[in-house]
Parts: sequence; C-alpha cells; structure tokens
Amino acid sequence: MLAISRSLCQKNLQQSYFFNCSIRTCHRTWTYKRSLIQDKTDHRKPQYLKLQKCDFRTTQNLHVPPLVAMLLRPVLRISALLMGRSMKKWWARKSGKEKEEYKRWFRERSNVFLGCFGLYSLILAIYYITHLKTDPLTQRLRFIIFNKEQEKKLGKMILEAHLDVHKRDLVPHSHPAYERLVRVIEKIRIANGDLKSMRDTQWTLTVINTPLTNSYILPGGNIFISLDILKIIENDDQLGIILAHEMAHSLLSHSLEALSNQLLWDFLIAIPILLIWALFPDITAAIIHMIGERIVNVVYNLPFHRILENEADEVGLKLAAKACIDIREAVVFWATMRTLTEMHTLPPELPWISTHPAHGDREKNLNQTMTKALELRKDSGCPLLPAVDPRDKFYKRSPKEQELYFKQRGIIKDEN
Ligand SMILES: [Zn+2]
Repeated sequence: MLAISRSLCQKNLQQSYFFNCSIRTCHRTWTYKRSLIQDKTDHRKPQYLKLQKCDFRTTQNLHVPPLVAMLLRPVLRISALLMGRSMKKWWARKSGKEKEEYKRWFRERSNVFLGCFGLYSLILAIYYITHLKTDPLTQRLRFIIFNKEQEKKLGKMILEAHLDVHKRDLVPHSHPAYERLVRVIEKIRIANGDLKSMRDTQWTLTVINTPLTNSYILPGGNIFISLDILKIIENDDQLGIILAHEMAHSLLSHSLEALSNQLLWDFLIAIPILLIWALFPDITAAIIHMIGERIVNVVYNLPFHRILENEADEVGLKLAAKACIDIREAVVFWATMRTLTEMHTLPPELPWISTHPAHGDREKNLNQTMTKALELRKDSGCPLLPAVDPRDKFYKRSPKEQELYFKQRGIIKDEN
C-alpha cells in the first residue's frame, strides 16, 4: 500500500463498474482471462525470484480460518479485560480473613499456576515454530497460520466489502485508465510467469475516484488504485513500479503474515491485560492499558509494517526489472513524493508513527538496491535503458525548477 493521503480533485461518476477477472459477462474480463490461460506456457528463465521449496514442517499445519482469527482478536482482548475486572471485583468482596486464606491457598499451589503458565507459553511456542515458513522469494523465515485457499476466500469477502464501500467511487470501465493499468499489470505478470504464485493469483483491478491519492492490494490479488495517484505518476515505468510493489505484497502474502502476527500477539498480550485489570483500579488500568497498546504499536507493530513495505519495494523492483521497466524511475517517483512533501503539497510525514517508511527512506533504499536490480533487468534480456538516467534529470533540477515542473504537470496549482 502506498498510503498517500492527498486530495487533488474528485469527480462524480455515476456509473459503477469494476474490472474483475472473474466476471464472464464482461468482454474485457474475458479477454484478460484468455490471456491468463495463454500465458501459462510463457515461462521465462528463473532469476532472483526463483521459487525454492523449503519447509520445516513434518506434521500437518493447523490452519485457522482467517475470519475466525479476525473475530478472535477483539474477543481475546475484551475477554481478558472483563476477566481481570471480574477477578478484582470478586477479590474486593472478600473479607480480610478470606483474603488471607486465599493467599495461603494460592502460595501452596503456586507451582501448579506456574506450570499452567509454562504450558500455555510452550503451546504458543510450539505453534509458532511449527508455522514458520521460509518465503521462496526473500528466503525470510516468517510466521503464517493461513494457507492460500483461505486467503482467496478472505480476499473475496474483503473485495465485496470494499466494492460496497466504494460503490459511489468506482470508475467506469470505459475510462482509459483501465486500459493503461491492465497493459502494465499484464507486462509484469507475463514477465514473472516463472513464479508459481504469480501464475496462481487471479489478479483483479478496481479504479476508484476518491480524495485519497492511494493504491493498495487486498488479500488474494485485488488491486485498488485511485485516479489521483495517476496524476503524480509521471510515466508507465513509474506506474509499473507502483503496481509491481502492490503485486509483491500479494506474492509475499503480507496480509496473511500481518494477521498471523497480530493474532499471536493477542494471545501473548491477553495475560498482561488480565493482570492489569485485576491489579489496578479501573481508571489506572485503562490508562496503563492504553499507554501499553500505544507503546507496543510504536515499538513493534508499526516497524513490522514498515519492514513489509520495504520488502515489497525490493521485491517489486525485481518484478519490474524482469518486466523490462526502467526501474530507475522508482527512485524518481519517491524523490518526487519527498519533494512534494517538502513543498507542503503532500501532508507532512511522521514515519515513526506510520505504517509506511518515509518517502526519502524509500528513495534511498531503492537507490541502494538499484545496481543488483539493473543486473537482473539485463539478465532478463531487456533492451538497453535510455542513456540519460531519469534520476540525474530529477536531481539536476533546482528547487525552483522542480516547482515549475510540477506546475507544468498540473500536480501543484499555478497561482499566477
Ligand atoms: Zn505497500
């Protein structure tokens, strides 16, 4: 997800339509499906992104249905809170003598309670270890408790919900943006046909007209892109970078990984929540609980999401390189975003409380991985890149020239 909150303009479009590869009644969809089938024979030589089997499991995994996991998350937290509060109230009703008796009873059985806690931790640890998988694209070991079939079902449900939410924002199929976007997606998809996950994913595309300059992907390969972001994207190479980034999220099952980690975290945090609400008065417990959640978010959740974003940037760059895209434009795109933020055209960034890295960090990271990605592009048999490096072109412009350039492109308003 790019998560760029910026309103440039919004049109009211009455016709509702979305480009979904699974709808047979749509002519364009049918064409797209046919192309999907034909491409199955078009496998290129595996490069950096070659799939490698590596699985530590020796027993059948216990896959939790994603919907159950999503419902279980708040249930776990609320149950821990209510249980802790009930224990506190129950304790308050006891007389001094009863309390002493219970304390003695607890001390005599402290080993049993410690054993239960140990067993709970052991079960979680075993469950964690047995659900670690090495990602074939990045070789990173990660915890995932769902399978691809479940992702497809979850994706279908979330897609329907998103289409319902955006029913007034859906851009008609006749809009030229669809043709352009599908062309670029197809280019990336065909060039990376050596990846099983690329072939197995049924990609869908929905163009929306919202005040958010944004693109994102839902589980199962459902890409959403706003018309506004197309105004900032300078050319098809930059568009390819954005789309390859979203496709990389899907190939890397980032949504499943994030949900798996969140659920594990909820199981771990249930006991501290219970203890906080059992030991402290309600107001103090609420404050500790709230501050604790904020700290965990800043220290763990947000950095974890930023890691996934950087990973999608790197893998996306490789997907784009294999599709013979001028991947140097990735740096130009993020440099543009950084510059527009510095010029206050885009909202200010607060990277440490954001799910996304700062635009400037993405620009730097992509620049650092550029040499290897360019080699991959060359090894993929792509034509030579234009001699003039678009990065040089961008960096040579003075701030005044950048402003003028953005005005000419209509990204920022010319107030004269
Ligand atoms: Zn992303």
